[in-house]
Amino acid sequence: MSPSAADLCRFVDASPTPFHVVATAAAELERAGFARLSEEQAWPREAGAYYVVRGGSLVAWRTPGEGGPSAGFRVVGGHTDSPNLRLKQHHDASRQDLGVLALEPYGGPILSTWLDRDLTIAGRLVTRDGAEHLVDAGRPVVRVPNLAIHLDRDQAGAPDRQRHLDGLWSIEPAAFLPWLATESGVDPAAVVGFDLMTADTLPSGPVGAHDDFVAAPRLDNQATCFAGLRALVEAEPAAHGQLLALFDHEEVGSTSERGAQSDLLSTVLERIVLAAGGGREEYHRMIAASVCASGDMAHATHPNHVERHEPLHRITLGGGPVLKVNQNLRYATDGRGTAAFAEACERAEVPLQRYVHRADLPCGSTIGPLSAARTGMLTVDVGAPQLAMHSARELMAAADVDLYVRALEAFLGE
Ligand code: ZN
Repeated sequence: MSPSAADLCRFVDASPTPFHVVATAAAELERAGFARLSEEQAWPREAGAYYVVRGGSLVAWRTPGEGGPSAGFRVVGGHTDSPNLRLKQHHDASRQDLGVLALEPYGGPILSTWLDRDLTIAGRLVTRDGAEHLVDAGRPVVRVPNLAIHLDRDQAGAPDRQRHLDGLWSIEPAAFLPWLATESGVDPAAVVGFDLMTADTLPSGPVGAHDDFVAAPRLDNQATCFAGLRALVEAEPAAHGQLLALFDHEEVGSTSERGAQSDLLSTVLERIVLAAGGGREEYHRMIAASVCASGDMAHATHPNHVERHEPLHRITLGGGPVLKVNQNLRYATDGRGTAAFAEACERAEVPLQRYVHRADLPCGSTIGPLSAARTGMLTVDVGAPQLAMHSARELMAAADVDLYVRALEAFLGE
């Protein structure tokens, strides 16, 4: 497997939840010399490389090299969350004298793919003192078994979201939260809140005669988190600022204190301008001079379902990053944004594919139009091609990892 595909696998395996994505990214940023800032403290006037964390979201940046507080930014966006099964508040549902964990879907997972999988439980515990504890059982602890085919001969339809997704975790009824807290070194009596979810424990890895593919959970959209992070860390400092914005909650509409519809990105940008000695005028000039490449994974043309794809816009696995265009603004891309990203791909000598959804199928959306509307920044929606989006195990070409990193790095550079 190529070095960058192997690095992507390590990134994904270290990041079972959005909170872990942020922690994994923060550790890499620290290694690269980025300093963590607190939203509650005053920010330094000095130019440099910084990042902030808001729950499952993270923004990291390198301040502009010249041009003062009104200098524009090159921004790469992405999202940290992926569809999965999450714990209900009252989740200890003993049935048939077994320890059963009550789960419900987050976002739009392909439900059948979550059955018969060895799942860990990960996320964060919050104690009475307000402290957050990142946790991961780190091994298979839950499994949602299928119904035997002999009891379901007609095999009709997807599992029922309320009745068929609870997981088995103990041979006898037991309380799950105290067990997880104890395993994680947290006092069970102090835990008063939690955000916990399932994640596949099978390591990510290569598939194919020549390790052609990467099979992994959460490629949508951790492949973008990985590529954007790598691009930011490796990009040469430029006259303009360089910024990476990774948002939580894309899979459920982005409306939260830290989603793409929140003030997170605009607040960070405004504070960067203020710290550099600018005011509202400089902030608006900075926005007008900035461009955002919003990254989210794209649908490669499925060899078994070619008829589901727009025939003039075939997307090839291994064919390079994808420009996403939708006339009804499910994607933010327009001609100007296209030019900015296409020019970066040319500079990086990376091929660019252009995706258009079939006009007779409803098109999914992403954070691009939302953050564009929130900030007023020119935005282009891009991604890397993959198959099986929202499956518990997704698939992309190993070659696309490096092409995606190179395109985003060129976009951030000059
Ligand atoms: Zn996505």
